[in-house]
Amino acid sequence: MSTQLPVPTVPITTAPLKEDLNSFRIAMRKFDYAAEKCGLEPGLCEVLRRPRRALSLSLPVKMDDGSIRVFEGFRVQHNSARGPCKGGIRYHPNVTFDEVRALATWMTWKCAIVNIPFGGAKGGIVCDPHKLSHNELERLTRRYAYEISPLIGPDKDIPAPDVYTDAQVMAWIMDTYSMTHGSSAPGVVTGKPLFLGGSLGRNEATARGCLFTVRAACKELGINLSGATVAIQGFGNAGSIAAQLLAKDGAKVIAVSDSHAGVVNRAGLNVEELLAFKVKTHSVEGFPSAESISSEALIELQCDILIPAALENQITMQNAERVKARIVAEAANGPTTPHADEILARRGITVLPDILANAGGVTVSYFEWVQNQEGLLWDSDEVNVRLQKIMSRAFHDMLEAMRKHHVPPRAAAMSVAVGRVAEATLVRGLFP
Ligand code: NAD
Repeated sequence: MSTQLPVPTVPITTAPLKEDLNSFRIAMRKFDYAAEKCGLEPGLCEVLRRPRRALSLSLPVKMDDGSIRVFEGFRVQHNSARGPCKGGIRYHPNVTFDEVRALATWMTWKCAIVNIPFGGAKGGIVCDPHKLSHNELERLTRRYAYEISPLIGPDKDIPAPDVYTDAQVMAWIMDTYSMTHGSSAPGVVTGKPLFLGGSLGRNEATARGCLFTVRAACKELGINLSGATVAIQGFGNAGSIAAQLLAKDGAKVIAVSDSHAGVVNRAGLNVEELLAFKVKTHSVEGFPSAESISSEALIELQCDILIPAALENQITMQNAERVKARIVAEAANGPTTPHADEILARRGITVLPDILANAGGVTVSYFEWVQNQEGLLWDSDEVNVRLQKIMSRAFHDMLEAMRKHHVPPRAAAMSVAVGRVAEATLVRGLFP
């Protein structure tokens, strides 16, 4: 990796006045660019760019006040050439079918770049879980789990947590699936509570994988992580634990934001105190010894490392010229649009792509699934050492492809991933 990354040799487009922010079309564009680098023939491209199967659901739920509400839900399986499908479940008011299709597609490439034997899937329900009671959330989750249960299973498709879902939601899905199948099936989901077969290290895995990728990039770019300044958008599972781990490495976390607010202190935030404050107040808003900052302004802060850890399309052609970080590490899925990617590459900013930077989560999900299938219990050292090995190998595969194709990190990672899925598809052959 050089400090001045090459500009893509094939411009994705000339910049239009208004950017297309449809996640699925963005996912297809990113794929098309990589497929061209791999020299895939058109028929195979068509097979790989579209999801294999998609389920659209109406989920009736009895609310606490006795009324009935019908929620919309999805499960999409993009590709299973390399193994069972794998992907999280998102609960968010802005979930759409196209967003779930994009996220399922990115899961395929993510599992392939870290070389674990899974394909890609994703699920989602259009809802605001913060406005549902615990019981309503359980009924909604169980109804969803029941509806997708013909598609999922330890050898078919294994859900996990994503935005606004957690270990409790996974426990309800595991229980519903197990009750309808007549035996306990811990391997049907990952990200479960530890006492139900969850893995040590899974909760921190996405952030830890991101940390390993940032460390490797800093080494390549000659940046000293100790003392480097970091801004993080999103302070949930991925963002808050990344803040904790980076602070332990000596980095200075100067700003974070959540869906309500953001806080900044150029001298460095006390991450442990901020976490305790967030647990107490449910937001970072009003954290003492910090000024407030909007989530949008955080993206443009002067810092060494910017970590988008919330939702898609946060760095676009509208703000990419004003990003001042040296490294953008995508803990979130799809935070950078293709036009923003081009602008950041031209400006010599290194973007560590989502399919690699946040792949620690699915990697330890794979470890959880292996432990469930084999009846094993690994300690956290074993999990973390294995994770580091996989992330480091994937980073070096990406680096090699950057040098071979003279492309920025995303195109390089995508070309490795797409090449692996293409090879599996060709060797298996098309059914029938
Ligand atoms: P989470 O629900 O734990 O946290 C989401 C965070 O984003 C919350 O702090 C929320 O307040 C914040 N947020 C929402 N909208 C925001 C906005 N507009 N501006 C700033 N903050 C905002 O979710 P998570 O699991 O941490 O997921 C975050 C991202 O990481 C998603 O893109 C997800 O797909 C990706 N990811 C998560 C995992 C995982 O294992 N959890 C794995 C890979 C990728």
